Amino acid sequence: MTALAAQLALEITQDGPITVAQFMQRALFDPEFGYYATRPALGAEGDFITAPEASQMFGELLGLWCAHEWTVLGAPGRAQLIELGPGRGALISDLWRAGRVIEDFRAAIDLHLVEPSLPLRRLQAQALANVGAVGQWPDSLADVAAGPTLLIANEVLDCLPIRQFAHSPEGWRERLVGVADGALGFGLSEPLPDTTRAAGVPDGFLREIAVGLEGFLDPIAARLHAAPGRALLLDYGYVTPDGGDTLQALRGHEKVHPLDAPGIGDLTAQVDFAAVAETATGLGLEVAGPLEQGHFLQALGIAQRAAALVQRHPDRQDRIGRELNRLVAPDQMGVLFKAICLSSPGLPPPAGF
Ligand code: SAH
Repeated sequence: MTALAAQLALEITQDGPITVAQFMQRALFDPEFGYYATRPALGAEGDFITAPEASQMFGELLGLWCAHEWTVLGAPGRAQLIELGPGRGALISDLWRAGRVIEDFRAAIDLHLVEPSLPLRRLQAQALANVGAVGQWPDSLADVAAGPTLLIANEVLDCLPIRQFAHSPEGWRERLVGVADGALGFGLSEPLPDTTRAAGVPDGFLREIAVGLEGFLDPIAARLHAAPGRALLLDYGYVTPDGGDTLQALRGHEKVHPLDAPGIGDLTAQVDFAAVAETATGLGLEVAGPLEQGHFLQALGIAQRAAALVQRHPDRQDRIGRELNRLVAPDQMGVLFKAICLSSPGLPPPAGF
């Protein structure tokens, strides 16, 4: 049992079961024991691989996207490029290298990295230094200087804690984390007051709700209303829920039971893109997508980029082919992963959508 599991078991024994969202919050962000606070391990040697960790082409194409969208914003002399949750800094450094191809883009950009994890902030600073870029680490989005904005976030929404509700003949019950025989285990609450059996919904159907979604999108919307800009969010997820449990824990690239060792491995849930679109629309933003990542990257020219890389490095042909396949193939990251773009009202459609 991890130190965090022991502590949670004690708290639950004293105070009663907790929601899946409370469990996720502690497993990921507990200041003493949480995964991101203590031992985030991304990349080939770590617990999980993200698109920018899999291939430089991902960050490069997002760099071209940002530079292009900067010209759409009128090529302002100062613009704020913000990445939320930059991990080890792979995306932002590839983006920065690629951004040089559009004249004056990099000179106009102030880079801001919003990162709750102190160990990751250090890796990001190193990654930026390696490409000769200078960044700032504001404590939150609200601390970033006003102005035209390009915001990106890859695999950050999937860290938002979710609550899970299971359909039953008596109505909806919440899935809770309790203690049985000294160990953490899942259970169900009593039927929630004011819920009844919903017609056409099978028993056991799980509905997942990211409780922090509005709080996540609010400051983004505030920025995009104060000055023109776009936010590009990429992640794994769905548009229509299939009723399955998407809570997923990864350790050393293996799926493990989510309650097994909280704080040791990564813990995520698939993103409900319909909820993201609806919440953003409710906040007055314009929404493009969600669009499958494979289609988005193809539209941005990933095949051409791969061909150019192969021409320059013929010895790496196989590897580049594997990376391309990983990012866009339907049975890899091409379909499950999606992109959605939120924009200030009145801008033309974003590139790639
Ligand atoms: N974007 C990176 C890392 C993804 S892992 C990549 O694609 O490789 C998730 C990242 O989001 C980590 O850096 C984590 O610390 C950060 N994070 C989690 N919740 C966040 C939040 N609410 N705001 C900003 N960053 C967050």
